[in-house]
Amino acid sequence: MGQTHKRRNSAPLKIDFLYQPPMFKVSETHQAATWLLHEKVSSNVKKDVDEMTRPDDKDILEEPKKIYEEKLIKVDNLKKYFKAGQKNEVKAIDSISFDIFKGETFGLVGESGCGKSTTGRTLVNLYNPTEGEVFFKGENIKDKNKIELHKQMQMIFQDPYSSLNPRWTVQDIIAEGMDIHGLYSNKKERQNQVKELLETVGLNPSHATRYPHEFCGGQRQRIGIARALAVEPDFIVADEPISALDVSIQAQIINLLKKLQKEKGLTYLFIAHDLSMVKHISDRFGVMYQGRLVEVAESEELYKNPLHPYTKSLLDSIPIPDPKVEKERGDFTKPPENLSDINASLREVWPGHYVAYTDEDYKAYKEKFQEGISIS
Ligand code: ADP
Repeated sequence: MGQTHKRRNSAPLKIDFLYQPPMFKVSETHQAATWLLHEKVSSNVKKDVDEMTRPDDKDILEEPKKIYEEKLIKVDNLKKYFKAGQKNEVKAIDSISFDIFKGETFGLVGESGCGKSTTGRTLVNLYNPTEGEVFFKGENIKDKNKIELHKQMQMIFQDPYSSLNPRWTVQDIIAEGMDIHGLYSNKKERQNQVKELLETVGLNPSHATRYPHEFCGGQRQRIGIARALAVEPDFIVADEPISALDVSIQAQIINLLKKLQKEKGLTYLFIAHDLSMVKHISDRFGVMYQGRLVEVAESEELYKNPLHPYTKSLLDSIPIPDPKVEKERGDFTKPPENLSDINASLREVWPGHYVAYTDEDYKAYKEKFQEGISIS
């Protein structure tokens, strides 16, 4: 039976979302709903729109755009509060909802303490939610067997050294999950699988009997990745996996994660406190502030068109390689004064672009936006 694929218009006009566009015939087999094809749209507008919606050369992603079809994870009104002393509690996650699609990398960014790690850990069922739900392949994770779930969901941590048992050989570290799930039939097969995994992550298979301290930082992170891969998961939470590494090594680890994603169809939640590296790996990302999500969109869209003041301040805080320019920019690490009400819920203001806007913010956005569109 034939399958129908719903594809999203990759270069929609903003007006397409404000006023339902009619369908235009592009060819015998292709129809498109966009005001851009309307006869009254002048060629000048078309040119402007082209500049507005098409990426610059330098921004073009190395990989083709992903099509978001199958939800792997659905997070629904998730809350996680921790007790702090006798009476107080910390709202580490305060009602967040978002989806992660199969095969994508969803970045989660925000300053330290905003709730990113707690989100990652709650998604893989290391923490029980205070309220709300996480669905994995359509099933509520609280109804699933924890051991079975952890075969399908793995984590990679920031500090590979403290997450690897120093008294175990690399072989035993990598094979731990395989041991738990009985993924081999004899010792030889176990050894071979570990060697294969070491090769996959770019390490020398003959080093399987060494200990973690015999490796440098980037290599240890590769061991952490091999350990996660050993159980052939579908989903990996990478919690600041490159933050502790030298800048020169960071790109290597990012490239390795990308390569593995392509080869194995993996889905990642990639957690980071700054945006510079997230840009290179994420298909979409969410910005967290004080336990809430304030903006979610495709990476390219968020970089070009950030709407929430906090996202703008995060983007402004990406370091510029020229120290002189950097000095003149001043301190961008503080949140801006004119933050919208962070208790506002996310609303979709553009296909796939969600922002925590109050009704007033949204009204102002629409007004500003209509001014910018001239269909003569
Ligand atoms: P991030 O990963 O963005 O740095 P975290 O998720 O680690 O943020 O922390 C969010 C908030 O929850 C912080 O205020 C942190 O102190 C608190 N927190 C995190 N884990 C625990 C815990 N196990 N017990 C108590 N408080 C915690």
